[in-house]
Amino acid sequence: MQVAAVIGHPVQQSLSPALHNAAFAASELDWRYVAFDVAPGAAAAALAAMRTLGIAGLSVTMPHKEDVAAAVDVLAPAAAALRSVNTVARDEGGRLVGHSTDGDGFVASLAAAGVAVAGARVVVLGAGGAARSVVDALGRAGADDIAVVNRTAAKAVDAAALAAAGRVGALDDVPTATIVVNATSVGMGTADLPVDPALLRGGQVVADLVYHPLETALLAAVRAAGATPIDGLGMLVHQAVLQQEIWTGRRPDPAIMRAAAEAELLRRQ
Ligand code: NAP
Repeated sequence: MQVAAVIGHPVQQSLSPALHNAAFAASELDWRYVAFDVAPGAAAAALAAMRTLGIAGLSVTMPHKEDVAAAVDVLAPAAAALRSVNTVARDEGGRLVGHSTDGDGFVASLAAAGVAVAGARVVVLGAGGAARSVVDALGRAGADDIAVVNRTAAKAVDAAALAAAGRVGALDDVPTATIVVNATSVGMGTADLPVDPALLRGGQVVADLVYHPLETALLAAVRAAGATPIDGLGMLVHQAVLQQEIWTGRRPDPAIMRAAAEAELLRRQ
């Protein structure tokens, strides 16, 4: 049996065990996925444990993504650009390789919903870790214009620099965007809105990375504006699909992962 795990703090709320174990079972892979609560500052020790215990794959969540990027042996290109790792795998020589699948997972979730990124005019609200991964991946996927809008201006400058098509934007970029992404934490567990719904237009695609609740106040406003809502579970599922591909060489079924994540969310209500 192979073991994979997520490290984070706190981690007990993570949906990753549910969706990874469902996909391992459906693929008839003899893998198990567990969650380890790792205290802030202990990421390097967790990687040492990964080596010692022979753990085959790690997911990395808050607050360890930057510390793991500094502690792995090799960084894949997206992780090197972001200086952040959400996935650790072993290469054939036993080295620990850090990847970042969040941004590509986001782009894959758009593609799965039939939304093309090439040529798109995108507004990204937020400039934290999730926003940075999204800007980087949107740039590599050929977005025409990526306007980063953030409360703290200096962070918007840094995030925008991750893509050639990136720039610091403002809320008045929202009405002319073809895709709007909420990558702030606004709306997480609250009915707060990250943008005035009066700025949204029919025909736009609006993706909310927040998935607690799954139907955020923003997504309800998007429906009311006649725009197309994309919820945050798509990104979570597709970044996990990419993780399993890296670890096992096999592509799991995203529908199985999504169903497992939805069932887990329902169970917790
Ligand atoms: P983070 O690094 O802490 O960044 C938070 C961002 O939200 C920053 O840009 C921050 O602005 C902004 N923000 C927070 N409170 C705000 C407020 N009241 N008004 C305006 N802006 C505010 O967090 P993160 O890791 O990027 O995560 C952001 C969200 O994405 C979270 O809800 C997280 O759960 C979600 N997420 C989802 C997935 C997925 O798979 N769907 C993956 C990763 C993250 P400042 O820079 O001004 O502080």
